[in-house]
Amino acid sequence: MATPQEQAGLVYSTVEEIPQINADLRKVFLTHKTRDLEYRKNQLKQMAFMIKDNENLLVEALKKDLGRSRFDSVFGETMLVVNEIVDTIKNLDKWAKSERVWAGMAWPMHYPTVRKEPKGTVLVLGAWNYPLNVQVSPVIYAIAAGNCVVMKPSEVAPHSAKLIAELWGKYMDPETSRIVNGGIPQATALLDQRWEHIMYTGNGTVGRIVAEKAAKWLCPVTLELGGKSPTIIDETADLAKTARRVLWGKTFNSGQTCIAPDYIMCTPAVQTKLVEEFKKASKEFFPNGPAKSADFSRIINDGHWKRINSMVTGTRGKVVLGGDGDQSTKYLAPTIIADAPQDDSTMSGEIFGPVLPICTVKNIDEAIDFVNSRDQPLVLYYFGDQKKAKKVLDNTRSGGAVVNDTLLHFAVAELPFGGTGPSGYGNYHGKAGFDTFSHDRATLNAPAKGVVGFAIEKVMSMRYPPLRDSDLAK
Ligand code: NAD
Repeated sequence: MATPQEQAGLVYSTVEEIPQINADLRKVFLTHKTRDLEYRKNQLKQMAFMIKDNENLLVEALKKDLGRSRFDSVFGETMLVVNEIVDTIKNLDKWAKSERVWAGMAWPMHYPTVRKEPKGTVLVLGAWNYPLNVQVSPVIYAIAAGNCVVMKPSEVAPHSAKLIAELWGKYMDPETSRIVNGGIPQATALLDQRWEHIMYTGNGTVGRIVAEKAAKWLCPVTLELGGKSPTIIDETADLAKTARRVLWGKTFNSGQTCIAPDYIMCTPAVQTKLVEEFKKASKEFFPNGPAKSADFSRIINDGHWKRINSMVTGTRGKVVLGGDGDQSTKYLAPTIIADAPQDDSTMSGEIFGPVLPICTVKNIDEAIDFVNSRDQPLVLYYFGDQKKAKKVLDNTRSGGAVVNDTLLHFAVAELPFGGTGPSGYGNYHGKAGFDTFSHDRATLNAPAKGVVGFAIEKVMSMRYPPLRDSDLAK
């Protein structure tokens, strides 16, 4: 039987051509073609045109891969990424400008300066769940910072990967940025090459492989990983709004979002009311049921469908909403599981689907202790009053945090996006993205001639042998 990639007509690059692609880009980088700010802006404009001109095709590909609605693909991907490009073009001169540093009275004559320089040739490996946000968006910053780039889209979303490669060839300069399509052999061949930065988005197991491969070249890495993002709901929360905002964050892309709320912690009394609010919100979102709604995405493939479904069938909690699914259409209902034990089938790995367990706790302190006993998550959500919000934020660790809403921090380009600990390291979006792909080149420029040159030589000559300890006191 044809694989999903073959069905989509996705053509893989050969493993043999990868070293040459790397070598070609490394050569072009040394010509300084990508150093020119106008060239970078032009490439970024091309990228924005590529997305805007072909928005319908991208929406169609995303529909084929994920059964996603037009609204969600535009709102959650094309619009966001184009806004990021526009924002980057607007700020590029400012971000790329050398920064003069004040280092105290001893140094002004040496002109201490930080030059923002491209790192060189970089690799971006993306995940399938948001082919534009987590594959194309890092490339914005790699190009903005003046690098040559290779990006490998995930083969798990084959229609999107195929389209991105086709469009890239039409809009972007192949001398400085290239798409390589393929699976693990191509990813491995890419990771065997020398790069000056690698950004990988995906799971922690592969994240470790990436970091190990990069270590051979001492190549810096940004790892955008996942994990179980907790949602602590306090009795002071507006539960009707909370249910809508959490259900939206959990059903957007059918929960296949690295920052989806993964599980809820609240008291039994809050749980009782919250479950009713979830039922109301679900009815409002999907009046004819989620299975019939064109607004509700599908699970990416059979493997993931079986994985998530087995969490539901294996739960020791109570399924109070949803629980049904259809493997043939890769539909899994938005599912709420009440009274999930803390060691439930839904509570070990990241769910990455539309299933939301609720674990009850005695109070906020117990929720905080539970969060702290686990890996640092990519994001932490808290719903309730501001006083306890501060307590929760002050006493926990996570890549990002949102109070009284879900997912939206990803859309604020001015906020650095990334994890901490096992949810990843490094970040991107806005200036943080530009900085990730830039080298801060510390520079001194000491005059040797003229009055300043004379003065520096006079002051600094005490460093030359023969040395006198008495000069240290001066
Ligand atoms: P995936 O299967 O699409 O893999 C990502 C990339 O790794 C692909 O390009 C793939 O070809 C490559 N790859 C897979 N196995 C490999 C191997 N053995 N060696 C080298 N390369 C390999 O993505 P996934 O891992 O299923 O993605 C889902 C995970 O990503 C979830 O945990 C999610 O939370 C996380 N994620 C994180 C972010 C973020 O920004 N932090 C965004 C999206 C997804």
